[in-house]
Amino acid sequence: MRDLAGVLTYWNAGAEALYGWDRNEILGKPVHEIVETEFPAESTSSQSTLINDGRWMEIWFRKQEMAAKSSLASRQVFKKEVGSVLEINRDITAQIRAEEALRQTERLAAMGRVAGIIAHEINNPLEAITNAFYLLRNHPSLDEEARYYAQLGEAELARVGHITKQTLGFLQGVQHPINVPIAGLLDEVLQLQGRLLLVNKIVLDKKYFSDGQIRGFPVELRQVFLNLISNAIQAMPDGGKLRIRMGTRMNEANGRTDLCISVCDTGMGIKPEHAKHLFEPFFTTKSTKGTGLGLWISKGIIQKYEGTIQFRSILFKGRNMTSFRVILPGVSPASKGF
Ligand code: ADP
Ligand code: MG
Repeated sequence: MRDLAGVLTYWNAGAEALYGWDRNEILGKPVHEIVETEFPAESTSSQSTLINDGRWMEIWFRKQEMAAKSSLASRQVFKKEVGSVLEINRDITAQIRAEEALRQTERLAAMGRVAGIIAHEINNPLEAITNAFYLLRNHPSLDEEARYYAQLGEAELARVGHITKQTLGFLQGVQHPINVPIAGLLDEVLQLQGRLLLVNKIVLDKKYFSDGQIRGFPVELRQVFLNLISNAIQAMPDGGKLRIRMGTRMNEANGRTDLCISVCDTGMGIKPEHAKHLFEPFFTTKSTKGTGLGLWISKGIIQKYEGTIQFRSILFKGRNMTSFRVILPGVSPASKGF
């Protein structure tokens, strides 16, 4: 609790723990000067908003603490009668770091996908050129010198081929694909996002109707579901319901047992004009908080597994319901013994 000039009048145990200053050290002093708060640029009008409206909510600011900085979400209320301001500051440093880490892995995965596309595209013409060089080198019309140049070209070409093959090999992972239990993978992702579910007051409703497995790489599959689940959470900043379903279904076309996983939320929904851009690289409605790469990467991964991803966003009883559904060819029971 402080007055409008910033002089501290009350400091609870939570504040002592968060900032590291004892009550006796800091009471009666200009609090933000002492803790060296850095307010974001857009908060300059906050004092007048506070005085006029009595409230100022959810503005971020940073606290300097020796080496490390913490990010806090601040909620402030001005009590006109007593001329004091009640500040409730919550430490969200870990949350912001987790968001940044997520963006970072998305960028890395995107680089992998781009490198993969390029390597794959280059590989085919490369093979044709290599064959042409082989024929050229052995052509009877060539003299000694021309043959030498053709040989030189062929050798360098082999090097390029080696590089693209290595890139592809690296991207496909050194290990062999394994049977990945999807329920375990989903639970792992949900646990990672557990704190955000709690903070955003999101109710989780999950049901697994299968102990289905997918043959593949856990890193790739985790990337897909981490993005779908974090997109759903990010769409519900004011709370809501996250519904997760997983089950099998028979694919009539090929007699295959598919695994069907859906992630639904009651968040802000998807605007019709945005719908056709969702899977494009760099399409994001989250400005600097998004990369716009998540769905693009996910789609690439799912296609590699010969699966599909679909979404729909509807208005139901005045609420938006957005659902993403992934269908992947599962490991059929007959092949379980392998
Ligand atoms: P990012 O999450 O970095 O924005 P994505 O590729 O994961 O990138 O998503 C692209 C865009 O798709 C998002 O910015 C958002 O507009 C939209 N979107 C994805 N999932 C949802 C959802 N569950 N509810 C509403 N919009 C969504
Ligand atoms: Mg995303």
